[in-house]
Amino acid sequence: MENELNDDNPTFNEELFNKFDIALRPKNLNDFIGQPQVQKNLSTFIKAASIRDEPMDHILLHGPPGLGKTTLSHIISNELNVGIRTTSGPIINKTGDLAAILTNLQPKDILFIDEIHRLSNNIEEYLYSAMEDFQIDLIIGEGPGARSIRIDVPPFTLVGATTRAGLLTTPLRDRFGIQIRMEFYEIEDLKNILLHSAKKLDLNLPEEGANEIARRARGTPRVAGRLLRRIRDILSVNKIDKINTMLVKDALAQLDIDEFGLDTMDRKYLKLIAEKFLGGPVGLETISAVLSEQKDMIEEIVEPYLLQQGFIERSNRGRLLTKNGWAHLGLKLPYDKDHPNIT
Ligand code: ADP
Repeated sequence: MENELNDDNPTFNEELFNKFDIALRPKNLNDFIGQPQVQKNLSTFIKAASIRDEPMDHILLHGPPGLGKTTLSHIISNELNVGIRTTSGPIINKTGDLAAILTNLQPKDILFIDEIHRLSNNIEEYLYSAMEDFQIDLIIGEGPGARSIRIDVPPFTLVGATTRAGLLTTPLRDRFGIQIRMEFYEIEDLKNILLHSAKKLDLNLPEEGANEIARRARGTPRVAGRLLRRIRDILSVNKIDKINTMLVKDALAQLDIDEFGLDTMDRKYLKLIAEKFLGGPVGLETISAVLSEQKDMIEEIVEPYLLQQGFIERSNRGRLLTKNGWAHLGLKLPYDKDHPNIT
């Protein structure tokens, strides 16, 4: 769902999209809008590393998708004026792949590993000595004559990104000196991000229009950007060049996005708990089976925002719809002696 490359728009042009996306990404910490605490901390750590002329400590960025983890890793490399090599947990299959990446880094470079919770165990263990001592073991030769030698790798900074910090093993998590949690964005920040993007895209977007999109962007810059692009499509088809609030509202209704920014999937999820399970508790397995959606997708993409908005709660017996959740669906909270404490 979050993956814009799977966009259902048949005219979707991936190359053009990537070009826009790269052009719109903030390059420096100063251009990065929102997340003030993250900015403040990172700016201190970046300055400290520059003054000491050392590689920065390893950094773990965690939080829901689309909040700027990849963007920040590029910003860190720009600010430190060092190179960046990007890869992702599931695509590193062999220790040899990782060894090749590590030995080819320049001193102080950034190695960005997205979805770091999906590294296999042996790769993860291989990373430990690289992260701690900047050394790795290489196997030379094959069969009975094979032997292992320890070699140095250039001192580097690992930036790991994950939507599921809870799935990281303790030894891996403990090796990150800097751990940063990304939060959902404030509407005001999303509005500013949208105004900034619109300017770069040469779009005439007034403040109220930007505000209307920001309110429905699920606290997520990626969603805000996607809504803006869809609205631009609708405008170009209708040959209108100024975006006003009315148009934004129409466009969002056309995209089936409601006042709170919930989309069809979010509402299907809430309705399921309300109508089939009388507000819960209901286990993730069951929700996933009934909706025919992967558990990971539900846990990483759908639930964080619904939790943050207070529409659902997690308990050890499963997911529960809250009073706000019932209200959002326009349904009355049924009295049920099994869960009289719904808040
Ligand atoms: P993540 O790695 O957390 O999934 P990305 O870094 O890929 O998220 O960001 C998703 C999109 O949102 C990108 O197009 C990026 O340019 C934009 N974006 C994210 N954070 C910001 C921000 N603070 N300011 C402006 N644009 C942002």
